[in-house]
Amino acid sequence: MSTLQLYDTARRAVVPFEPDEHVLMYICGITPYDATHLGHAATFISYDVLKRHLIDKGHTVQCVRNVTDVDDPLFAKARELGVHYLDLAATEEARFERDMVALNALPVSSSPRASSAIPDIRGFIGMVLDRGFAYEAGGSVYFDVTKFDSFGSLSNYSEAEMLELARARGGQVDDPNKRHPLDFVLWHPSADDEPAWETMWGAGRPGWHIECSALALRELGTTIDLHGGGADLIFPHHECERAQSEAATGTQFVKHWMHTALISMNGTKMSKSLGNLVFVDALREQFEPPVIRLGLIEHHYRTEWEWDDELMPRNEVRLASWRAAADGAAGDVIDEVRSRLDDDLDSPAAVDAVDAAARRGESTRAAAELLGVAL
Ligand code: ZN
Repeated sequence: MSTLQLYDTARRAVVPFEPDEHVLMYICGITPYDATHLGHAATFISYDVLKRHLIDKGHTVQCVRNVTDVDDPLFAKARELGVHYLDLAATEEARFERDMVALNALPVSSSPRASSAIPDIRGFIGMVLDRGFAYEAGGSVYFDVTKFDSFGSLSNYSEAEMLELARARGGQVDDPNKRHPLDFVLWHPSADDEPAWETMWGAGRPGWHIECSALALRELGTTIDLHGGGADLIFPHHECERAQSEAATGTQFVKHWMHTALISMNGTKMSKSLGNLVFVDALREQFEPPVIRLGLIEHHYRTEWEWDDELMPRNEVRLASWRAAADGAAGDVIDEVRSRLDDDLDSPAAVDAVDAAARRGESTRAAAELLGVAL
């Protein structure tokens, strides 16, 4: 069997991914304040294809996907609706899980909530402070990027690029309590109507990035094989996760960083702030879930693509052809699918191979199952 090759964001190259038999994966999950859109689904289904491929190769996979239920957009939406933020989070998390089950995503090993991790986060911040990588100012605790030499080496961005992205993505670069504009919050005071937890450095709540570092350490230990998420998380989220985790533990946090490309609609990235979204539950009212899954995996996880109205009808036709050939003659398309997936998870080429097998009248069943497409 050949070796799986995957693109690693930090090394900026396609490299062999050769974990031990038991693979530790951490995927940044949702902030549960709205329905799942196609961009989320594309991300999580990409990692599901990876998991299925690893299991097919004989690995066991322990995959943690967190739920960010302590976060600004969740508080804002709960405020707008006049509901408790945890009630809103529970409702939206359940909707998300229904969408993932419908799309035939394998269950994750755990989906811990940020709100479950406050003691872990407190302990983690203590470790970062003890090792001299953070400081207190104005009731907040900040990570001191000048103490961490390799800050920026995951994203490979220059300081100017990081500053620009931090400014665009809520990094509060002008906070007067910061010693350096790229320093980021580990803990900060809560607004009056936000939840607050007591700590020795003041009542408040965790910053966004610290949740994932604390949960990864709690659930998977100091070093994980693969960390994933959407490409928009590379900076600042993953850069900051890496810095604080390696500062706290003194050892490598992640062996392989894998990021998924964003989907656009009408020429711009699909995002909640822009409102140009296709929701999975709305698509499910019109199309069978395997059609939606096929529409996602006919694209490569690293290639940005644009929504088009022919995507679902085209994949309805494809699903019908795969079904028609499900019990066809024995062939070797499964081997071709395996080798396409070994090549940086080339799911579009794998889908093409199954299309060709269907045209030849060969059985598509095993190959479809490997790709998670229920016939
Ligand atoms: Zn995260």
